[in-house]
Amino acid sequence: MNLLKDLQEIDQEISAIEATRQGYQAELDSFQADAAKVQEMVDQLNEEVAQLKQEEGQLQQELQKQRDNVAKVEARLPEIQTQKEYVAVLKEIDMAKKANKDLEEQLQGKQQEISVLVDDLKEKQDELGAIKEKSEARGAELGSLLDESEAVLLKRTQARESVAAELPTGLLRKYHNLFKRRGGLALALAHNGACTGCNMQLPPQQYNQLLQVTEIQTCPHCNRILYVEQSA
Ligand SMILES: [Zn+2]
Repeated sequence: MNLLKDLQEIDQEISAIEATRQGYQAELDSFQADAAKVQEMVDQLNEEVAQLKQEEGQLQQELQKQRDNVAKVEARLPEIQTQKEYVAVLKEIDMAKKANKDLEEQLQGKQQEISVLVDDLKEKQDELGAIKEKSEARGAELGSLLDESEAVLLKRTQARESVAAELPTGLLRKYHNLFKRRGGLALALAHNGACTGCNMQLPPQQYNQLLQVTEIQTCPHCNRILYVEQSA
């Protein structure tokens, strides 16, 4: 019976350590998930900025071409002979300049769009940097906590094995199943004629037997293995 109590104590410790380890791991995972999410936004912004810059380049090229065109037409002015031709060329220049103004406005709009996105990008990159910094610091901490708890877990598992080795297989199996089914409590103290596992009254005869005999008995209500406090 004492062996079983030892086993249950160790198993409860093991469960607690495993739960703690899962918590550490979940925290690590959440850092990674956060970083991945922000990284995705950064990537997308980078893509958008690249696209806009390409459009900006096209507009600039177009504008340069139009400016060259205006210069070329203006260069023709001194050679013009007739008034009619002069007016026509001036009109052509005027229209080309208007078109240039249009292009300039488009270019400005594009540049503004880019600058807004670049600000967003910077913000997200800072955010990502902060997450990475935090996750590196906490990640190192969590890593060593995981290592430590793994060492403890290994010791407990070894202790558990040596205790388990001394128990009959059938009893061990029964204990195992109960431990899993009964939320980590396979053994229950019988006290004042009741099972403290399920708080149900035990048949008086069984309770009396428990107090006298050392054979393994189970609670008729919750099936837990019963034990009584050894009087000192
Ligand atoms: Zn019970």
